[in-house]
Amino acid sequence: MKIIMLGAPGAGKGTQAKMIAKEYGLPHVSTGDIFRANIKNGTQLGMEAKKYMDQGLLVPDELTVRILLDRVSQADCANGYVLDGFPRTIPQAEVLEEALNKLGDRIDYAIDVDVPDENIIKRMSGRRACLTCGATYHIEHIPPKKEGICDVCGSKLVLRDDDKAETVKNRLEVYHKQTQPLIDFYTRKGVLRTVDGTLPMDEVFQAIRKILD
Ligand code: AMP
Repeated sequence: MKIIMLGAPGAGKGTQAKMIAKEYGLPHVSTGDIFRANIKNGTQLGMEAKKYMDQGLLVPDELTVRILLDRVSQADCANGYVLDGFPRTIPQAEVLEEALNKLGDRIDYAIDVDVPDENIIKRMSGRRACLTCGATYHIEHIPPKKEGICDVCGSKLVLRDDDKAETVKNRLEVYHKQTQPLIDFYTRKGVLRTVDGTLPMDEVFQAIRKILD
């Protein structure tokens, strides 16, 4: 099963993507995580991506598409995957479609986790991330067991640069302009499913399970 998660930054699509991946035994492929891992390791790709990420802008399609196609061609993706944060533009969606077409394959579901902008801004300021293992928390909704410390690996949690208020506003603008058109794109393909992302995390997941089962 090949699944795409859509939704504004902070809609909770990453959390849902991880839950789907666990439940259905699929790899969770997040372009944001791949970029952050590269930044942490000080690679050329990481340095290039960081310039855009810190401003809330999208990393150029050419670079993003290259790393994504490379990732999904690995053996663990042969039977499917959950894409989290890709595609984010129509050209990215077209490249992915073309690559899948060549394999006689297609995306099964594009799940839109729908949350209004005003909820997003409130949520993002409470988000905390572990830059060591990629785990994410929310100070109100998904707090770590020990304040400021990652449950998984014990590292210190931080408010990511790209979750800061000014950057969030930019990211929302970018989302509406560049990513929202994908809702129409996947509606036309007949694979779009929308879930109410303002519901509690477990209820959102139950709605997604109903779609996938
Ligand atoms: P995320 O963790 O998915 O919210 O991504 C964090 C940041 O990484 C985004 O704000 C973008 O700067 C960059 N990024 C992640 N995925 C993509 C993508 N598919 N296209 C362009 N930029 C991306």
